[in-house]
Amino acid sequence: MSGTVLVIDDSPELLAVVAARLKPEGYRVLTSPDWQYGLEQAVAEQPDLVLLDVDMPDQSGLDVCRRLKSDPRTSAIPVIFLTAHDDVNVKVHGFDLGASDYITKPFHPAELRARVRSAIRTKLAIDDLDEQARVDGLTGLFNRREFDRLLAANTARALRESRNLALVIVDLDHFKSLNDRFGHAFGDLVLRSVGALIARSVRTGDAACRYGGEEIALILPNASGSSAVEVANRIRQGLRSLAFLPKGDAVTITASFGVADLTDVGASGAGMAAVAQGSLGQALTEAADQALYAAKREGRDRVTQFAAAGTSATGAVDSPARRAG
Ligand code: GH3
Ligand code: MG
Ligand code: MG
Repeated sequence: MSGTVLVIDDSPELLAVVAARLKPEGYRVLTSPDWQYGLEQAVAEQPDLVLLDVDMPDQSGLDVCRRLKSDPRTSAIPVIFLTAHDDVNVKVHGFDLGASDYITKPFHPAELRARVRSAIRTKLAIDDLDEQARVDGLTGLFNRREFDRLLAANTARALRESRNLALVIVDLDHFKSLNDRFGHAFGDLVLRSVGALIARSVRTGDAACRYGGEEIALILPNASGSSAVEVANRIRQGLRSLAFLPKGDAVTITASFGVADLTDVGASGAGMAAVAQGSLGQALTEAADQALYAAKREGRDRVTQFAAAGTSATGAVDSPARRAG
């Protein structure tokens, strides 16, 4: 069984015993004799389970549990209380605070292992469902719902920190005729390959999302439109090297790219605060979409940057980026 268990208990002996029981099971075990350090570890290490002493000299474990459950960074981590007494009221209070289970000290090693195993099994299953709810099954990229969430979160953050953010919308060229000629399964294979290419072309912190059927959106925090044009052109070049041979025919995949950044939608510098956050993501999407349609109109297989008055497009690798808008 894999998983990380954090044990918070003021007794070093107890910590040593629990670690000795759980490590042979394959768990990574972190221990903290100090509840404040324990909270920090919970945030930093994101364990799959916290074993928490109820009776600590300077703080009640119930209170530590309340803190874990009220912090969005740790609220999903299950908590099992370790308690020396069998007081029903304390147990009920703990469950009301969000604890998953109790282990009464002194515990039988087999019971400790069984309760830990059960809690971690549930946690990993929930993590898995969480992941499935955010990721597109075909391409492995984030899905549309996650795109909406990430765009809202990242534009809000960009506003707060007075930073730029770029959005790229990629749409495969003549994809319908590819499906028609070689079948839907081949189209799916192409989408998977393009998704993988795009996922490895972006930086950590960037988000690649399946925006629609054969449309992929890239959210690039801290990026200007011109650096996003460079990223898009790198992907456009990369598509050339994907080799497909359906029915023995060599097929080349091309795509069109629309690029916009926050300066294109009037959100820059002091002006940023004035823009309503909710509509900002929408305005950015519309700008990138307009740029994409211009790329399609101008002949496909190209990167087009939305340009409001005064902005310029740069960064194309082998053809100048055109301007739309
Ligand atoms: P354009 O260059 O103008 O973008 O032409 P297009 O044919 O790509 O544009 P259109 O939007 O008309 O067609 C998109 C096609 O993408 C239609 C649909 O059959 C196909 N498609 C959408 N989702 C999937 C999918 O999950 N798998 C496969 N194989 N095809 C898909
Ligand atoms: Mg399309
Ligand atoms: Mg298309």
